[in-house]
Amino acid sequence: MGNYRSTRGSERKLRGAQAIIQGIAEDKGLYVPEEFPELPCKIEELTGKTYQEIAKVVIGAFFDDFTDEEMAHCVNSAYDEKFEAKEVAPLVKAGDAHFLELYHGKTAAFKDMALSILPYLLTTSLKKEKEDKKICILTATSGDTGKAALEGFADVDGTEIIVFYPNKGVSTVQERQMITQEGANTHVFAIEGNFDDAQTGVKKIFNDDKLAERLAAKGVKLSSANSINIGRLVPQVAYYVYSYVKLVEQGTIELGDKINIVVPTGNFGNILAGYYAKQMGIPVNKFICASNENKVLTDFINTGVYDIRRDFFLTNSPSMDILISSNLERLLYHLSGGNGEEIKGLMTQLETEKVYSVSDSIKEGLGDFYGGYADQAATNETIGSMYRENGYLMDTHTAVAYKVYEDYRKNTGDETVTVIASTASAFKFAESVADAIGVQEEDDCFRLLEILSKQTGVNIPKGLQSLDKKEIRHTGVIEVSEMSSTVENLL
Ligand SMILES: *Cc1c(COP(=O)(O)O)cnc(C)c1O
Repeated sequence: MGNYRSTRGSERKLRGAQAIIQGIAEDKGLYVPEEFPELPCKIEELTGKTYQEIAKVVIGAFFDDFTDEEMAHCVNSAYDEKFEAKEVAPLVKAGDAHFLELYHGKTAAFKDMALSILPYLLTTSLKKEKEDKKICILTATSGDTGKAALEGFADVDGTEIIVFYPNKGVSTVQERQMITQEGANTHVFAIEGNFDDAQTGVKKIFNDDKLAERLAAKGVKLSSANSINIGRLVPQVAYYVYSYVKLVEQGTIELGDKINIVVPTGNFGNILAGYYAKQMGIPVNKFICASNENKVLTDFINTGVYDIRRDFFLTNSPSMDILISSNLERLLYHLSGGNGEEIKGLMTQLETEKVYSVSDSIKEGLGDFYGGYADQAATNETIGSMYRENGYLMDTHTAVAYKVYEDYRKNTGDETVTVIASTASAFKFAESVADAIGVQEEDDCFRLLEILSKQTGVNIPKGLQSLDKKEIRHTGVIEVSEMSSTVENLL
């Protein structure tokens, strides 16, 4: 039976459903599988299968406390017509890479891949564990998670959802998506701080035992829709398996060939899901971790020193404007051979000294990873040249990934077939993209979407159409110090 335990050493083991409900461990660690499940069948047996079929196999292998019927219910409810592409996650060749388009869900970013299924995984878990408390989902967002979580949990029985986003730290479209959210159980606040402040604030609320007691007395339990929740991470493993199977099906690679995976990285969740896919048996050569100017991960992969004593930049790839990448803790735990004490030490150092340095053996394990970054000017140039040369439209985050990949190829000469996680629709970052491909100037962002669509022949994702005509329902702006009391007052 697959068990989950905390990265910080607590002995307690949980079933998958319990870990999903808890969100974050009591010792502040993150839940990780005690052992990685292997794919329960040969990769060749997955060829010809749909996204849903592959997702059932992959997610079911991690959460083997779910019955096949329960897993089928979750997967089929999540990956339905909500996705505008019938393949769910099309793999598109452009330039020197294969783009795994993860943004065809309702909110036009890859967060939909996990957040369309998380509510089903959670409600099924509650039933399985006979948990009768109301669940309140707390979410810190750098722009995309918030909307995807709101869509996933809106009007789901027995849940409330509260989202905190950095005021002026998200794109115009991202903000409008969130503040127009419908649903009686949805709550959205801008905070006077950046994403790290929002995430740290949410973690603090989770770790406030007294608050948890007071909420329990009211029949409420907190959980998380951030990638600190293992229920967020595991569904993402499925699309890496899927992309490998598609490359085999197309004849681009032979079964057993290794591929490279490039991921525009913020909180390290998406790339970690790729690493989990490798642990399940998918052949991967390198994980290329792409950052923007907030390149703390690039430096870490190159030196083994994680140092957040640096300036924080607001960039045109805002969903990656992060200095504290939560899920790195999980990777370090695995690379340490499951040494919870060591990880606890590193994380405590990060809190108190804002810097830590990993052991030689962890550093060696980082050899699977290549780190690189692209600044805003290079990102814009890459969007422009890709569009001019191949007619392919990338958003700013995906462009960071592609630029770092081009640098990697140049530096290493490695020609391995490469999958790039394409994490958002270009329309979510319309101002930057329009500028990069030389679309006429237009001050009204929503008018710009239409112009961009006309010029490129790419349709505006359904979820972004007529966004400007929707009623604004959430206007709260609060200080970071008010996050906890805001939650308690709401509940
Ligand atoms: C969230 C996000 C990222 C970063 O993903 P992580 O899992 O946090 O590393 C990259 N691009 C986009 C568009 C995102 O929304």
